[in-house]
Amino acid sequence: MINAPRRVILISGEGPALEARGFAPCTRPEECVGLARTRGRQEESMEEAGKFSLVRMAISQVEAAARRMPHLDQGILEKMKHTKREIIVHFPVKMDHGTVRVFTGYRVQHSDTRGPFKGGIRYHPAVDLDEMRALAMWMTWKAAVVNIPFGGAKGGVECDPSLMSEQEVENVTRRFTWEISPFIGPEVDIPAPDVATNPQVMAWIMDTFSTWKGHAVHGVVTGKPLELGGSRGRFEATGKGVFVVAAKAAKHLNFSVAGARVVIQGAGNVGGTAARQFKRAGAKVVAISDVRGGLYNPKGLDVEKALDAKSRDECAAAQEVDAEEITNEDLLELECDILVPAAIENQIAAQNAPKLRCRMIVEGANGPTTPEADAILADRGIYLVPDILANAGGVIVSYFEWVQNLQELLWTEAEITERLNRILANAFQEVLAIADRERVDMRTAALMLGIGRVAGATKLRGIFP
Ligand code: NAD
Repeated sequence: MINAPRRVILISGEGPALEARGFAPCTRPEECVGLARTRGRQEESMEEAGKFSLVRMAISQVEAAARRMPHLDQGILEKMKHTKREIIVHFPVKMDHGTVRVFTGYRVQHSDTRGPFKGGIRYHPAVDLDEMRALAMWMTWKAAVVNIPFGGAKGGVECDPSLMSEQEVENVTRRFTWEISPFIGPEVDIPAPDVATNPQVMAWIMDTFSTWKGHAVHGVVTGKPLELGGSRGRFEATGKGVFVVAAKAAKHLNFSVAGARVVIQGAGNVGGTAARQFKRAGAKVVAISDVRGGLYNPKGLDVEKALDAKSRDECAAAQEVDAEEITNEDLLELECDILVPAAIENQIAAQNAPKLRCRMIVEGANGPTTPEADAILADRGIYLVPDILANAGGVIVSYFEWVQNLQELLWTEAEITERLNRILANAFQEVLAIADRERVDMRTAALMLGIGRVAGATKLRGIFP
């Protein structure tokens, strides 16, 4: 039954909007398919004793930037420190052997002040509300830093896809999409790939959402396969952007990427693509890793062979590619010119920041560096290009994909690359200008730019009612 009313708990404020979209409010939890909440207490999940909280880290970054913005309206700042809506769904999935497993999925929408919510969907055992909140907030600043008309969101399912068959991953994707479909759409919230999701997962999301709507809706996700309205250049966009920004930062520090020693943590979409770009530009990629560990050759790796070995995961891979094995911890501490953390968050912290031996860090991953580590790195003179600038290439080309979908256009790869490079170059210059003018590091400067743009848009729209 397409578009049949479904049920949801409405905690506050969303009634008419959701009813207009085929939802019936519900007060009995056992009948509800999901939880729609507006503006809950952000701290609740992060107060678990001793647990590292990503959202606390994200908020402390905002507060550090806000201290440098004396004209920032305090009410608007308070609003920006909260997410707008948090959707949590528990859903059953038929597994291959006939059993039923219940999964927990999230879609957290931080801000749609400057445009529809936008952000990836990840499948990972560590996915939780705290992580989703922080990642959604960073998406808002990122879209604002590169000045594209999107807000910020993030989603994920707590699961380990490496232990699941392709059919099980498809089942999880389709049922999760069904549960969150009333809250997403080309004008509302547009998911994209993130850790352990890919164009195939986006195709399943698009198909499930389209089935729910009764017609094909290409613009509901970005990062789709080309055959389904995906954009040329989207798959490589984040890694390419990391390289473009790294080259600009290297030039600013008076060295060239050609001949530079590069270490990359993460051999997935972002890390793998960045490694290829660095290699193509004449850099020496001396180490690369995945969750199981790294490959290291001080003379430079054969990047294609290393990525191929990593994609097949053999422990014997090291000999095959003329490298030695190295742990992820040791990899981060290798001597190099450019360190690219491109795996997950919270990798460079107070305990290892004093031991890093790189000239600069370019954050491919979201949130790889803690605020304590930021301070240590700044003291040590290690230059850092923050995630909300360095890995913005993905959301920029996602924006191109969305524009092409809405207008039924097809841009060439050359057009995409030219526009991507132009936007990143402008954003880099704008952030650098703020860093120089205000005498702050690049993270604070990028946040000041992003937060300032969101605050300006909020002020223009006004607080309703
Ligand atoms: P991916 O799943 O393609 O690759 C992730 C890589 O990190 C894999 O090689 C994996 O083995 C490795 N990894 C996972 N856990 C690890 C750990 N604990 N230690 C070391 N390595 C580990 O994901 P991706 O799309 O390349 O995303 C990587 C990072 O980049 C994430 O932080 C993501 O949020 C961010 N990012 C991705 C995009 C995008 O377009 N895909 C855009 C912006 C930011």
